[in-house]
Amino acid sequence: MGIWFTEKQTENFGITAKINKTHHSEETDFQKLDMVETAEWGNMLLLDDMVMTSEKDEFVYHEMLAHVPLFTHPNPKEVLVVGGGDGGVIREVLKHRSVQKAVLVDIDGKVIEYSKKYLPTIAGSLDHPRVEVRVADGFMHIAESQKAYDVIMVDSTEPVGPAVNLFTKGFYDGISKALKDDGIFVAQTDNPWFKADLIQQVFQDVKEIFPVTRLYTANIPTYPSGLWTFTLGSKIHDPLKVKEDRFFELETKYYTAPLHQACFVLPKFVEDLTK
Ligand code: SAM
Repeated sequence: MGIWFTEKQTENFGITAKINKTHHSEETDFQKLDMVETAEWGNMLLLDDMVMTSEKDEFVYHEMLAHVPLFTHPNPKEVLVVGGGDGGVIREVLKHRSVQKAVLVDIDGKVIEYSKKYLPTIAGSLDHPRVEVRVADGFMHIAESQKAYDVIMVDSTEPVGPAVNLFTKGFYDGISKALKDDGIFVAQTDNPWFKADLIQQVFQDVKEIFPVTRLYTANIPTYPSGLWTFTLGSKIHDPLKVKEDRFFELETKYYTAPLHQACFVLPKFVEDLTK
């Protein structure tokens, strides 16, 4: 029983998962949305036939996107997540008691609605009193923000459709203006096996804007190639110079203080993309 879903990661290669059940499927105003139950990974959100998040491995991506910049900043209070409608990054942000306000701006309210319904362990914090959820274009929100945030995380889909503007130099310029004077931003920047050009371009663009620019990785089995990158831009604070006493215990399954440093050690073919 069960059908097989394949995400084509390139024209010649893909990843396949056995689907026990489809909970919901629709064309929203922005993208094709599927919420399915998989045999291996639990409930899984697909957008435009690409894996966005799954109950079993979501913690890796959400912890690494959130805790690296949040521990790098000495005292994050105002935080913005662009995209992230599944709620996983927001859940992690709230583990930092210094954060007084976490704003989430996702363009598609349907992602939020169906993540709350079928991914409660991921989306459960979206109604928290410290969280403000806006259904809007993240590009516009950034353009309208001035020195408003300590940390900005870009948890967007691939640079297609509504997210295409979220990987441009103009967007990163806007992020710099939306950040406070010692602000930090991080964006998910896909995989070095199939999207090396994107990583190289984004890194160069960010490097022209931020004095501290670094690339780090994590293992995400349901994402293309399983090796995922994150590009961090910082006005002052360096993620490799975080003092020991800045780290405090919090409940994680992937992120640790030693890994905060180690994740910046890159395989040669990945490091070459930052040159
Ligand atoms: N972790 C996933 C990844 O790395 O591909 C991303 C998951 S999250 C669900 C991606 C979100 O980005 C989607 O909910 C989508 O609606 C949102 N998004 C895409 N373009 C956007 C834009 N211009 N402004 C705000 N949100 C956007």
